Amino acid sequence: MSQLRIVGGSVYDPANDVDGDARDVCIEAGRIVADVPPSAQRLDARGMVVMPGGVDMHSHIAGGKVNAARWLLPEDHARHNAVAPTLDDRATIPRSGNDGSVPTTFTTGYRYAGLGYTTVFDASVAPLVARSAHAQLGETPIVDSGFFALLGNDDYLLRLIDAADRERAREYAAWLLAATGAYAIKIVNPAGIELWKRGARERMELDQTLGGSRVTPRAILETLADAANTLGLPHGVHIHCNNLGLPGNVETTLASMSALDGRRAHFTHLQFHSYGKTATGGWRSAAREIIEYVNAHTTLTGDVGQVMFGATTTLTADAPVEYLLHRSSGQKWLNIDVELETGCGVVPHEYRDRNAVAALQWAIGLELFLLSSDPWRVVLSTDHPNGGSFMSYPAIIRLLMDRAYRDEQIAHVERKLLAGSALADGLSREYSLREIAIITRAGPARLLGLVNKGHVGVGADADVTVYMPDADRAKMFSTPRYVVKGGTLVVEEGELRRAPVGRRLYVRPAFDTAITRDLERYFDRYATVRFANYPVTGLPDDPLPVGSAMASSGVR
Ligand SMILES: [Zn+2]
Repeated sequence: MSQLRIVGGSVYDPANDVDGDARDVCIEAGRIVADVPPSAQRLDARGMVVMPGGVDMHSHIAGGKVNAARWLLPEDHARHNAVAPTLDDRATIPRSGNDGSVPTTFTTGYRYAGLGYTTVFDASVAPLVARSAHAQLGETPIVDSGFFALLGNDDYLLRLIDAADRERAREYAAWLLAATGAYAIKIVNPAGIELWKRGARERMELDQTLGGSRVTPRAILETLADAANTLGLPHGVHIHCNNLGLPGNVETTLASMSALDGRRAHFTHLQFHSYGKTATGGWRSAAREIIEYVNAHTTLTGDVGQVMFGATTTLTADAPVEYLLHRSSGQKWLNIDVELETGCGVVPHEYRDRNAVAALQWAIGLELFLLSSDPWRVVLSTDHPNGGSFMSYPAIIRLLMDRAYRDEQIAHVERKLLAGSALADGLSREYSLREIAIITRAGPARLLGLVNKGHVGVGADADVTVYMPDADRAKMFSTPRYVVKGGTLVVEEGELRRAPVGRRLYVRPAFDTAITRDLERYFDRYATVRFANYPVTGLPDDPLPVGSAMASSGVR
């Protein structure tokens, strides 16, 4: 099926200023086109809502810690068997697997597509396991996918920063992205993971030095933010700040934002970094301080990292956070010091609505959404599976669109810590369908620099989702009627029917080859992998462009 006309739906395409107008969307050879001949297949979407395919810019679906979580959680898998779908496409073998908080690869692809999502990024992959991450993405059908490479605690990078050699650090970052087939630079707890690996058990502040070196979180943030922007990467540096989850971390978060003020930079899962401290050292909401700062500083962007109630699994490169969670919850855990590069921790966790801290985390996420003045710059995520599964996105959309439902839910949760939060005072805002289209597709696509995603203008990738309107917005968004991916109708009448292979999204920036001579010596001396064996080869698809146009495009 190379030509398709989606007829007469209410189209929500905010990137092209289309807000619910009834019109046709035409598709030919995997792209949106202006028109197709009368002989084209027709899909009657009258009375339905048409949006671009969903874009998840921060999820965890591949790589070392995702697989480590799969090893750690056989009981989670045993409870959530997923049978193979019945596909029309006989060329594709449907696969069984497991759901639960960390689904298996095939099930992950099926579930995202079943929600109307067509593009997904894993937000943190240790470069050392890039090969495995690519293999897992290759087994995740339908969605276009890629990952961000972890760099903020990398020994070679920290040596360059200690030597104040920021140009060489930029060339190294370029080499690393090209060698691993990554899409963007990810920083997690800059210098803090390395400090923890050396045995320290303290917080990390922005100007704290690492050992006797000149390395500080501030120097890492500046070096890598400038590297991403100078190299013209499609996405600016993606930052998970220091002191995640700790009371009072709002100070660290604001200091980190201020350090990069005026530069293009993305601050992820803001909810986990928006905590004030009470007189007795406990948690309070500092959502208002954080979101007002983001509202006022237009080069900064974020995603929320909404917490949803229920059992899930936390997994992160931020091993010190997982150590604390394991100690406080008594849950089993797994830690891997990833050689010279980063860390990794996994702890199963349940957010209970009668638990005061979990209730506060849930409320802070909603406050960030409801107080955000620019949906293009603060987009939806749960940091899947850390705050909750991506399968809870429809429930979050209902919380944002339906105040009566939201107030009902607030009445159920433990209110001990909610006092003083804007949510407890009653926020009346309700997101519109246009705003939902921004925070779930148009916004993330723009922040990622994906010019052919997140909209249905002529030339865009033919990724389209069609929903049947329903007053229950959770129901509406959990069961799209039709999903088109790259021109292929993958969901029909609410059923997954086809599972084509998705495209790999990565960049291959140019770098000064002088860096490789020194790197070869470094690998020989310290690494378990030979330099020649480190780069990933044989990736499918061509890399996406990088360049100065990207760096200056920023955000609107
Ligand atoms: Zn994450």
